[in-house]
Amino acid sequence: MKGYKFIAGAVCPACGDIDSIVLKNDDSEVRCVSCKFTKTKDEELIQSIKILND
Ligand SMILES: [Zn+2]
Repeated sequence: MKGYKFIAGAVCPACGDIDSIVLKNDDSEVRCVSCKFTKTKDEELIQSIKILND
C-alpha cells in the first residue's frame, strides 16, 4: 500500500488481525488492511493498539 508502512506486531482493535495495521508515512492516520478500520492517529488510539514484542 503506497504511502503506508506496516507496524510489526500490531493488533487491529477492530478485527484482531496481527500485522495488518499500517501507519501513513506522515503519521497522520492508521488503518487495517484486513478490515475497514481506519482512524486519524491520536494518543488514545496508539494506546489501544497492542504491539506484540518478544
Ligand atoms: Zn482490522
